[in-house]
Amino acid sequence: MKSQYRVVVIGGGVVGASVLYHLAKFGWSDVVMLERRRLASGSSWHAAGGIHALNADPNMAALQVYTIDLLSEIEKESGQNIGLHMTGGLTLAGTPERWEWLQANYRIFQSIGIEDCELLSPEEAQKRCPIMSTDGILGAMWADREGYIDTTGTVQAYASAAKKRGAEYYEETKVEELIQTADGWQVVTDRGTITCEHVVNAAGLWAKQVGRMAGIELPVSPLKHHYLITDTVPEVAAADFEMPMTVDLEGFTYMRQDQKGVLVGIYEVDHEHWAMDGAPWNYGEELFQEQLDRIENELVLGFERYPAIQNVGIKTWVNGAFTFSPDGNPLVGPVPGKRGYWTACAVMAGFLQGGGVGKTLAEWMIHGEPEADAWPMDVARYGDYAQNKRYIRETTGQFYSRRFVMTYPNEQLPAGRPLKMSPAHDAMTEAGCKWGVSWDLEVPLYFAPEGFEETPTLKRSNAFDIVAEECRTIREGVGLMDITGFSRFEVSGPNAEIWLNKVMASKLPGPDRAKLAPMLGENGRLKGDLTVLNWGDGTWWIMGSYYLRAWHMRWFDDHMIDGVQVRDLGEEVCGFAVVGPKSQAVVEKLAEQDISTLKFMGCGDYDIGLVRARVARMSVTGEKGYEINCRYGDHIALRRALLEAGASEGIRECGFNAMLSTRLEKSFGIWSAEFTQAYTPGMTGMDRWIDWGKDFVGKDAALAEREGNGPAQVQVTLEVDALDADASGYEPVWAGDQRVGFVTSGGYGHYIGKSLAMALVDRDKARPGTELSVHVVGVERPARVIAPSPYDPEGKAMRG
Ligand SMILES: Cc1cc2nc3c(=O)[nH]c(=O)nc-3n(C[C@H](O)[C@H](O)[C@H](O)COP(=O)(O)OP(=O)(O)OC[C@H]3O[C@@H](n4cnc5c(N)ncnc54)[C@H](O)[C@@H]3O)c2cc1C
Repeated sequence: MKSQYRVVVIGGGVVGASVLYHLAKFGWSDVVMLERRRLASGSSWHAAGGIHALNADPNMAALQVYTIDLLSEIEKESGQNIGLHMTGGLTLAGTPERWEWLQANYRIFQSIGIEDCELLSPEEAQKRCPIMSTDGILGAMWADREGYIDTTGTVQAYASAAKKRGAEYYEETKVEELIQTADGWQVVTDRGTITCEHVVNAAGLWAKQVGRMAGIELPVSPLKHHYLITDTVPEVAAADFEMPMTVDLEGFTYMRQDQKGVLVGIYEVDHEHWAMDGAPWNYGEELFQEQLDRIENELVLGFERYPAIQNVGIKTWVNGAFTFSPDGNPLVGPVPGKRGYWTACAVMAGFLQGGGVGKTLAEWMIHGEPEADAWPMDVARYGDYAQNKRYIRETTGQFYSRRFVMTYPNEQLPAGRPLKMSPAHDAMTEAGCKWGVSWDLEVPLYFAPEGFEETPTLKRSNAFDIVAEECRTIREGVGLMDITGFSRFEVSGPNAEIWLNKVMASKLPGPDRAKLAPMLGENGRLKGDLTVLNWGDGTWWIMGSYYLRAWHMRWFDDHMIDGVQVRDLGEEVCGFAVVGPKSQAVVEKLAEQDISTLKFMGCGDYDIGLVRARVARMSVTGEKGYEINCRYGDHIALRRALLEAGASEGIRECGFNAMLSTRLEKSFGIWSAEFTQAYTPGMTGMDRWIDWGKDFVGKDAALAEREGNGPAQVQVTLEVDALDADASGYEPVWAGDQRVGFVTSGGYGHYIGKSLAMALVDRDKARPGTELSVHVVGVERPARVIAPSPYDPEGKAMRG
């Protein structure tokens, strides 16, 4: 072992070994992995080894496909047998809603290029898995790319393949301390100290402690998990093919063949955390005693699903632990504020996700950005609030218990809530507000009559008419909306303008003006759909999506220059938007200064009632509107004043659901839908805001796109002949039987009375009038490209 490396990877489980392999593969061979015991001494050795491509999150599904395809390559490269059995797999649907969901997901998988799936009737499914009872099964999805592997063999294969490419790894070497230096880290081990530029926390069950070694509190916790392996099952032994990997979602179990018996794994509804502060250091390759009382119900369902196992013995019980983040996705990437400290942990399914995690992290470290959009697993998707132990316990527990439970798009889950509330929260709740959550914050969805409960559904919900009424208020009268759920950063200092000009690709607004500002990565892909406000006094604001606060702050810090301060105002400033044709009449009544001179995209300081406010005349609804930003302490007073002043104009409180419907009618894109790190300015129409005459981050790549042949796909607005459901995202778009794109977001345009979708489609299918079709909840619906902004295309309402 040398005393200096470029990278030290801490942890020799499947994830660490994959990171090591990918670093070496992509050209960094001065790298070492340290393992305190033997390879695969954590969760990895006792995993069930199941691999399947399907995941409700399309980004994670793509990552899983990459991992599965990589496995045979690793086997070949290393010469290490990994016991790969590609049996194919079944996902069963046991309720009508689940069957609808599965059919919808089958189409979404087509959108992201997972084509080797098919939908099966219960009888067809049973032929492929003859030991299964089809009782209660309404249908199934088959996927070719499923099966299982030998877990320890796979970890060894990654590590040997890495070694062949020049990387090193050492067992029986425990990292005990991490010391940050001016240009990297000192890694203190029980076999000496190593100096390096980068450390990677791939410590699995011990990730928490390895985070704490650097003063980082990661939102991760281990939970226990059971599976059993049966003795020989005669029906399995007699079959001339292997049983497929079978997931019974309503039964909370997964099953695969194991020699001549089967392995049945259980997602316990009655979950149990273990060692929330990280596994004990003396924890070795032990297992916990099985806890049958916790899994009784799921076991009964499992034995009913596979009657053949009722008559055979159980050879092995495994009750082990593995780690979860609050949303179940891995924590990957550079930790904000800790230069050179990277995470690759909280990987719930290391054997089916570890390859993709290793690839993503290695690309990130070597090239500065991963190739694919890593947001769903980015460690910076959480803020400091997620360090709270109870938050971690509730959210990871909820994720675990619901792993096989269907979550509807309009469903609000309770874990970790309510946490942060805007000051007017209680008064708004009294007024009927129904709340959703963004990051740590409760955000208003809509205002309902007393006693109203929204029914979870894949289709249009019973809140449809309520939201329609709020949209009408916004378009015809005046609505009041809590906009605490926007992010606000203050930029100041002598070089503020220079810095903003560098990080924003647009022209900057003049004094007392606001401007839409795309922000790009060095690769020319989007990093933000922001608004820059110039308050004319040397301070600027950047406004964007609330849940991207830590992620954007990391980006700002990484691109910082001297003479600039960027301050996240997210804990100090909140506000209300007043929107609609009558908004001016309301704000005018309260403004001590003349607000009539504040033009569209203008901004300034105003006294609104007793509140000192920073006001901007803009609205994402496409209506005339004022965003009134105030101190947290003034929020309640501001609301009260606006409601009183607006009473004669019929002011009514509205929520984000109405905002989303109205923005869709204007073809205004939003982050995580129309705009992501995977898309370019040319694809999304963001290029129209770029100032090509200046230098900015990402200009070379953006110019290359502009001067090349143009993007293959571009953003369009579709009108969909939908009936009782609307598109939501990732549904395929078809021209005849040719897949020509996918939906980025969709919904109902309540005011214009049309089902709408925004989509990325092949350029030759982007002309308005082009007849296409879209799968909505699994059913193909006619659709056509329409000109952008079906409501008020000339923008008269917002400028008026
Ligand atoms: C019962 C069960 C069934 C499962 N089934 C599946 C399945 O079917 N498919 C699937 O994909 N996943 C499955 N999993 C999950 C899978 O096991 C984990 O996702 C995976 O093992 C995580 O790998 P890892 O490398 O992140 O962590 P670990 O395997 O925990 O590895 C971390 C390593 O880091 C080492 N380490 C920690 N701290 C230090 C230190 N300070 N210095 C040096 N070394 C250190 C540890 O010794 C350990 O070897 C299952 C898990 C369980 C418990």
